[in-house]
Amino acid sequence: MSEEWDVIVVGAGPAGSTAAGSSASSGAKTLLIEARSEIKAWKPCGEGVSKATFRTAGIDPAPGIVSKELSMRVYAPNGRFVEITEKGYAINKDLFLLELARKAAEQGSEIRVGEPVRRVSCKEDRLLVQTSRDTYITKVVIGADGFNSVVAKSLGMDNRTELIPVYQYRMTGLRIDATCGHIYLGNELAPGGYAWIFPKSDKIFNVGIGVRSGDPRRYLDKFISERRDIFGSAKILGAAGSAVPIGGLAKEIVNDGIILIGDAAGTVIPFTGGGIHSSIAAGKIAGEVAAEAVSEGSTSKRRLSRFIEGYRDPWIKRIRDSLKALRVFEGLSDNDLNTLAEVLSEEDVVNLANGINITKTAKKLLSHPVLSIKVARKLLF
Ligand SMILES: Cc1cc2nc3c(=O)[nH]c(=O)nc-3n(C[C@H](O)[C@H](O)[C@H](O)COP(=O)(O)OP(=O)(O)OC[C@H]3O[C@@H](n4cnc5c(N)ncnc54)[C@H](O)[C@@H]3O)c2cc1C
Repeated sequence: MSEEWDVIVVGAGPAGSTAAGSSASSGAKTLLIEARSEIKAWKPCGEGVSKATFRTAGIDPAPGIVSKELSMRVYAPNGRFVEITEKGYAINKDLFLLELARKAAEQGSEIRVGEPVRRVSCKEDRLLVQTSRDTYITKVVIGADGFNSVVAKSLGMDNRTELIPVYQYRMTGLRIDATCGHIYLGNELAPGGYAWIFPKSDKIFNVGIGVRSGDPRRYLDKFISERRDIFGSAKILGAAGSAVPIGGLAKEIVNDGIILIGDAAGTVIPFTGGGIHSSIAAGKIAGEVAAEAVSEGSTSKRRLSRFIEGYRDPWIKRIRDSLKALRVFEGLSDNDLNTLAEVLSEEDVVNLANGINITKTAKKLLSHPVLSIKVARKLLF
């Protein structure tokens, strides 16, 4: 006899663990299935999050999970920078994910690790979730299994979105201010993307890059070799590549019995490439909607679309506006970026990157002789 569940969540990343906890605490019999043998950050990550991320997740920013408080500097190609004084956290993502999963367990979710989901299929009004060990029956599947989602693929859902290839080193021996994160823009340096240096401690740094075309590792090596002032005596302690879905929300994220969340649904904030906060927010809402739908006895696409309604404000709007800002910025020359660094305030930079109140910044730029046409009008219309 196959085990029966109300809700099965696939993938114990930030989105999945949050969704499992939320579903279980809303009354659904919930199973969280993780492919890997352990819940940890297998994928490389800059490990930078806002303080609000912890509030949304409902977990404490305890020492250990938080490695450091950081402000941020965003550098134009000419080296001029805008300082973001509002502090965020550098986290230890392994411990952060463990804490989310611990909370999901405490909220009543069952958790199974080392059990990749191979296929999800429909059988009458139920779903079959076939894993490496068993086949389970469930009413709702929440696909939180990353941009390569097996849930989406096996059900033929179109969750494609633009992927940006990224590469990251873990390094030591850098000569740089470790009280803040550093973000570098420039068409030569990182075409269509950016490079980052995020301190994990005073001595260990995540150093990465995302580029829209070409090999990110080559660009990262070039950045490191050209910045002898920072990397002159640095050593590499780890290296990994991956991809970030920065093309905005995917076309199909809800279907009969299915909700996709996190990277599987394209919920990354496109301009920053940050996806931890938005996937946790999606997990919370998806878990609640799934559990309510089960208790009401209707798990149709229409009923589960309440996830989209709940996620719209502010998240879908932010994702859309951040993508709009990204599309405008990717057409700018290095000279334009240098000019922007002179006229944009800290608040403007934060808002543009995160898709918050972008019309306010656009209106401010309307009176600028060059940026009015190249930036302001494109953001407004
Ligand atoms: C280099 C890099 C740097 C980044 N830096 C930041 C940053 O500093 N701040 C930020 O906010 N965001 C950052 N991001 C983005 C962020 O990591 C993701 O947006 C976020 O992790 C998405 O969470 P998720 O739960 O949707 O997916 P994931 O974190 O991808 O988790 C998916 C989970 O599903 C599991 N899984 C996959 N397939 C299956 C299967 N078939 N069966 C069962 N389980 C499965 C995986 O093992 C994994 O545990 C970065 C991304 C990269 C690549």
